[in-house]
Amino acid sequence: MNLFKMMQTGEGIEHLEEHLLNLDSEFRFKCRRCGKCCIHQETIIFNARDIYNIAKKKGMTVQEVVNAYTEAYIGRNSHIPIVHLLSNGPKGACPLLENGRCSVHDCKTTVCALFPLGRVIIGEKFGEPIEDPDNLQVKYILNEHSCGSAKRVNTVRSWLAKFGIPEHDEFYLLWNKVLMSLTPAIMKLEEAKVSEPVLSMFWDAIYQTLYLQYDTNQDFMPQFQVAADKLLRLSEEIMKAQPPDHLEA
Ligand code: SF4
Ligand code: SF4
Repeated sequence: MNLFKMMQTGEGIEHLEEHLLNLDSEFRFKCRRCGKCCIHQETIIFNARDIYNIAKKKGMTVQEVVNAYTEAYIGRNSHIPIVHLLSNGPKGACPLLENGRCSVHDCKTTVCALFPLGRVIIGEKFGEPIEDPDNLQVKYILNEHSCGSAKRVNTVRSWLAKFGIPEHDEFYLLWNKVLMSLTPAIMKLEEAKVSEPVLSMFWDAIYQTLYLQYDTNQDFMPQFQVAADKLLRLSEEIMKAQPPDHLEA
């Protein structure tokens, strides 16, 4: 199962449930540190915490990290800005790869840290629409991979601990709650055929608030809580407003 492909195309989604792993599920994998996954990678998505952590580690601002290593596009399914890693280093390598090693190993993007695992969010019952965004569950899947060896038996729990990813990841839950609130709001604007400049203004406001407005001299989570509150309010206003093109971003 390839989580990224499934999210992009919906392919294989009918088999997702049988692949879901819990914290105590076991899988066999040992990384050989060959570095092949750091070349020609366009599928590595950043969340706001990844960008903040890399900025802090590198002594850069969040804006500098975004400018140097990432590119944004509007997600086909999410309808909101998505930030992904640019493979613009030598020979199409990740620009964070230095002398064959990840220069941000201890705070690499969550997607890289979790590999070969991936994370998905489900509601109370698998396969049913998520009714209550305050009641999300995190599950894991083992992505298809042809690298590494099967020498080591890991549990999902031990894999998370290796990279300091919390078992109960408050950030990830709130991040998904925000994204789930923004998607229908933006779709509502698109369906109402608001003008391109107005839509762009909303996308820009979301991009700035979601990814950029963090100071690495302050703790991340309180700043993200402020950003999340703003964006949840924005989504709520859009969903309530009639007609939507009178809204201000
Ligand atoms: S962030 Fe690190 S692990 Fe991820 S692709 Fe870049 S160099 Fe490789
Ligand atoms: S995760 Fe796989 S491709 Fe990446 S360095 Fe380890 S063995 Fe190589």
